Amino acid sequence: MSELAGLDIKFLSGVGSKRASLLNQELSIYSYEDLLYHFPYKYIDRTKYYKISEIHSKLPYIQVKGEITSIEVIGEKRQQRLVAYFTDGNGMMELVWFKGIKYIQKSLKPNTEYIVFGKPSEFNRKVNVVHPELELVEEKKSKINASLQAFYLTTEKMKNHYLNSKAIQKLQENVLQSLNGKIPETLPALLLKKLGLINLHEALLQIHFPQNTDILKKAQYRLKFEELFYIQLNILKMKMKRKVLYQGHVFEKIGENFNLFYQNNLPFELTNAQKKVIKEIRKDVGSGKQMSRLLQGDVGSGKTLVGLMCMLMALDNNCQACLMAPTEILATQHLETIREFLKGININVALLTGSTKQKDRKKIHEDLLSGKLQILIGTHALLENIVQFKNLGLVIIDEQHRFGVAQRARLWKKNHLPPHVLVMTATPIPRTLAMTLYGDLEVSVIDELPPGRKPIQTVHYFEKRRKQVYEFMKKQIDLGRQIYMVYPMIKESEKMDYKNLEEGYENVTQFFPKEKYGISMVHGKMKAAEKEEEMQRFASGETQILVATTVIEVGMNVPNASVMVIESTERFGLSQLHQLRGRVGRGADQSYCILMSSYKISNESRKRIETMVRTNDGFEIAEVDLKLRGPGDIEGTQQSGISYDLKIANLGKDGQLLQYARDVAQEILDEDPLLEKQENFTLAKQVKRLNKAKINWSVIS
Ligand code: ADP
Ligand code: MG
Repeated sequence: MSELAGLDIKFLSGVGSKRASLLNQELSIYSYEDLLYHFPYKYIDRTKYYKISEIHSKLPYIQVKGEITSIEVIGEKRQQRLVAYFTDGNGMMELVWFKGIKYIQKSLKPNTEYIVFGKPSEFNRKVNVVHPELELVEEKKSKINASLQAFYLTTEKMKNHYLNSKAIQKLQENVLQSLNGKIPETLPALLLKKLGLINLHEALLQIHFPQNTDILKKAQYRLKFEELFYIQLNILKMKMKRKVLYQGHVFEKIGENFNLFYQNNLPFELTNAQKKVIKEIRKDVGSGKQMSRLLQGDVGSGKTLVGLMCMLMALDNNCQACLMAPTEILATQHLETIREFLKGININVALLTGSTKQKDRKKIHEDLLSGKLQILIGTHALLENIVQFKNLGLVIIDEQHRFGVAQRARLWKKNHLPPHVLVMTATPIPRTLAMTLYGDLEVSVIDELPPGRKPIQTVHYFEKRRKQVYEFMKKQIDLGRQIYMVYPMIKESEKMDYKNLEEGYENVTQFFPKEKYGISMVHGKMKAAEKEEEMQRFASGETQILVATTVIEVGMNVPNASVMVIESTERFGLSQLHQLRGRVGRGADQSYCILMSSYKISNESRKRIETMVRTNDGFEIAEVDLKLRGPGDIEGTQQSGISYDLKIANLGKDGQLLQYARDVAQEILDEDPLLEKQENFTLAKQVKRLNKAKINWSVIS
């Protein structure tokens, strides 16, 4: 394919330098290849012809064959319209233009056979088509034979320069004709045959000019498969390479620390999901290879405990372990939790953060080197070069999406043998996305919450129920609970949001008088110290209501807060809503999430709200989010810095195909891990090309 990538779009017939620069700027189309891979977003069946007598305004579009009998311009200057009277022998309808009247008037030919295509509407009780597509029957015959018409994405700017969908279609025709069947194949012939895939040239031809829906499906299938297949082949190849290159510590035995903890200190039964995950990890760390595992589990699913038990495995095998958290609050919380869990067992645990005193720091450094300090918990401070271990066997990273890969790599280097790595995240990632973003990591999932949790109740109210909501809040406060009220904060409309927040605050203080209730307010414009102080007032129970924008800390943990009121819910993303809801439901009390919205909300917002009301399951929510927004926007993927410019496959919809493509890739690598065999030459070449071009693979590992 590289040949096509080298052909500049401006040399294609019908393009030229002006159109070329539009294509560059608006759609990032620079080469013949880019154009061919600019796929249609929909197709319309062009085999059916209507009779004019059958047409009514409810039809989405119609196609009619017939002739123009006469033309007239109606109306005064600015409100002029051009009307062509069109007949198919059965009836009469009007074709109407409001723009380009002069030009169109000149080009229309009466008594010549046309195909008219467009959306019918009704005007003065007569059916008409406004700005129809017109094609001479004569001209149609000479085209590439297609029965489905492709529609292409274009921009306003392109349309203003007559580069509409139709024009793109014409360019596709030109490019296909100029290549004249000579599009080099990008999958090995043997594979095509084995999997029953059509060849690339046929696939590209049919995707732009489908002869029928069957062959179109085959074309889409082939192109989707290829796209997913090469991503997987690349990821799996890297994973294999790493397995070959890196040996790991072998944690052979389950020893004293683990057993003592399990028998004496474990305050509850592990959930089945926790047991399953611990087993998976044990297998990894006993294998002799370095473990790289992602542990996903919704908020409150008990990841810390799993992490701790893995650290004990490390200790039992004469290794040290460390746990890194993204914020000081979280790291401190972890220290407290872990000390509590380990009570009565003689294990040395310490905390290292940016605010650790110099004297303590020095001691920590020394004890790490001597091996006296067994578990270190901390923030980014752990990464500093001066922090050296005697024998680091396991690194646990909490809430990984906050850490870059470069940072992770620095932890690796702290040892002669690379430590095992366990990455924990509460941001649920749909399986397909995980396979793609973290495809080289093994994935474990805790898909079960500890027993006895009361699921948060979620309701949706429109503005007119506000008074009722306030009454409800009052009751909860009387019961001794606390309440979050969250307002959206989006950069472009920061001023407006600030106003909303202030109004909201005023509103709340009217209903909840200052003499009786304590209200905190936190927003993005406050200084860090001020914010911290306000939050602290709420956390300590001094105030009952926290009015805030979405700046609430991830680590904010106030078990006594049992109500989350979200304002202008329609403006939040689904995963953000889920994260916010996760701030409540942390104590023993029944918790509530109240989603407020205006009446006017889009279908997508409605769907988001419905989903929130229906389920508390973070994975299900992530799946819906993926389907609604596509993978580009999903939280966590932006931070990861990986952008998959998928042109045809859809991680939300093509999960099965993705799994299949991954299996096929794995099968090939099992036979030929480094793709050195002659028969895999094409594969190796494509992987190399991908590596160079579109995807920043280096950030994945
Ligand atoms: P997260 O996965 O969000 O990090 P935590 O590890 O903080 O969750 O666990 C949440 C709470 O659940 C903690 O108080 C923890 O002690 C408790 N917990 C963990 N595992 C269990 C279990 N198997 N049974 C009951 N409670 C558990
Ligand atoms: Mg946690």
